[in-house]
Amino acid sequence: MTGELTRSGAADLAARIASGEVSAVEVTQAHLDRIAAVDGSIHAFLHVDTEGALGAAKAVDALRASGGPLSPLAGVPLAMKDVVVTQGLPTTAGSKILERWQPPYDATIARRVKDAGIVMLGKTNMDEFAMGSSTENSAYGPTHNPWDLSRIPGGSSGGSSAAVAAFEAPLAIGTDTGGSIRQPAAVTGIVGHKPTYGTVSRYGLIAFSSSLDQAGPFGRTVLDAALLHEVIGGHDPADSTSLPQPVAPVVAAAREGARGDLKSVRVGVVRELGGQDSTGYQAGVLASFESAVGSLRDLGAEVVEVSCPHFGYALAAYYLIAPSEASSNLARFDGVRYGLRVGDDGVNSLEEVMSLTREAGFGPEVKRRIMIGTYALSSGYYEAYYGQAQKVRTLISRDFAAAFERVDVLVSPTSPFVAFGIGERIDDPMAMYVNDLCTLPASLAGTPAISVPSGLSEGLPVGLQIMAPALADERCYRVAAAFEAAVEPVLSSIPELVA
Ligand code: GLN
Repeated sequence: MTGELTRSGAADLAARIASGEVSAVEVTQAHLDRIAAVDGSIHAFLHVDTEGALGAAKAVDALRASGGPLSPLAGVPLAMKDVVVTQGLPTTAGSKILERWQPPYDATIARRVKDAGIVMLGKTNMDEFAMGSSTENSAYGPTHNPWDLSRIPGGSSGGSSAAVAAFEAPLAIGTDTGGSIRQPAAVTGIVGHKPTYGTVSRYGLIAFSSSLDQAGPFGRTVLDAALLHEVIGGHDPADSTSLPQPVAPVVAAAREGARGDLKSVRVGVVRELGGQDSTGYQAGVLASFESAVGSLRDLGAEVVEVSCPHFGYALAAYYLIAPSEASSNLARFDGVRYGLRVGDDGVNSLEEVMSLTREAGFGPEVKRRIMIGTYALSSGYYEAYYGQAQKVRTLISRDFAAAFERVDVLVSPTSPFVAFGIGERIDDPMAMYVNDLCTLPASLAGTPAISVPSGLSEGLPVGLQIMAPALADERCYRVAAAFEAAVEPVLSSIPELVA
């Protein structure tokens, strides 16, 4: 029974809890047991909140017993990326500098999750301040990919993706600045969506690059991700960049997609992202992408090739804009306001305490980004670097606008390669940054994109990325759901972790 409960998806669990077939406490306990059994080898969680989770589950069971209205995901467990602040629970963003910090408030998305009766199991591992593609930049050690423990689960939301793929949680929250939901989803064989910028509140996300950061859902199916998306999405007055829009109708789109075909849908294959120009892409990834495009065609979609000539500059632009914003955002970690403080002995000056704290508290990748960002913003260089990158950003948005005059969605592989070995790329920043080749254009343009499993290459999952115009998130879900229904499920071939 317990194993069967952890294999079930969120939609299924919610229905069974609502009907009384199982209690929320049983479902939660089954997932806590699964975490106890496998997380020693996965290390998806930085903190498991056993008491809080069981308390939340009991509250759902009590509400049900009293005949109260249950929201659509009531009683379903979830894993929360540790960049989302949660009242009274440790929140580290994967950094030593926030060790032992307990936020005095909840992020809007944490509050919405709790108000929906979703059971938060704990906080998941991540690259420090969400900088990375492998979770190896976590100050607390890497997360292991449940498909092969010697490999990375993607990043920066790798704890969340691994937790869902390893059946430790049916749902998780991630954040995506340059690909950190989509790439981990791809390399662990699950679904992850980056919503349109401004449609999910950033209030209470520890900021990395404020003009790019966006939280979104992970699930093992498109429908499960959609159900979570509708819980967290929608306007929030506490976030000044939140759009005054209702959440996109993604659940209906996922349901409709699963039933329907793709006749009348025009799909563009991006030449610069694994289309004609595919240097640096693994052959197995390209083969899986080609067969995915074939499946879309079989579903009735009209497929054309589209050129987005400036996408090739996305990597260079992103790695100036994101570090620039990070260098400013991370100035708040000064040893005074939050977490760690080093050298406060009454002799050192305030400047020395700040400098010693930042020296001890930040890891090497974070320091690298602060230095790049500070340089790119400095007087005399600003125009040549940051200013230039912003112009490229505009050109990328125009490429999207031109493409979406011809097609409804764009597709590409999510990542140029499958999960690589832990340690393989960690000493070479460029080798790490090229993970983001396919995901960065939608990040810079603020447009929505989903990753859905498209098959296996050498026994490891490959993801298909589906991109849509701003505020048309439902198109991503509709096409992804139709595709998911037409192809072999990927996760059913994941190796069993425990005997
Ligand atoms: N891999 C990218 C980076 O290191 C993206 C990270 C993210 O989306 N948070 O910046």
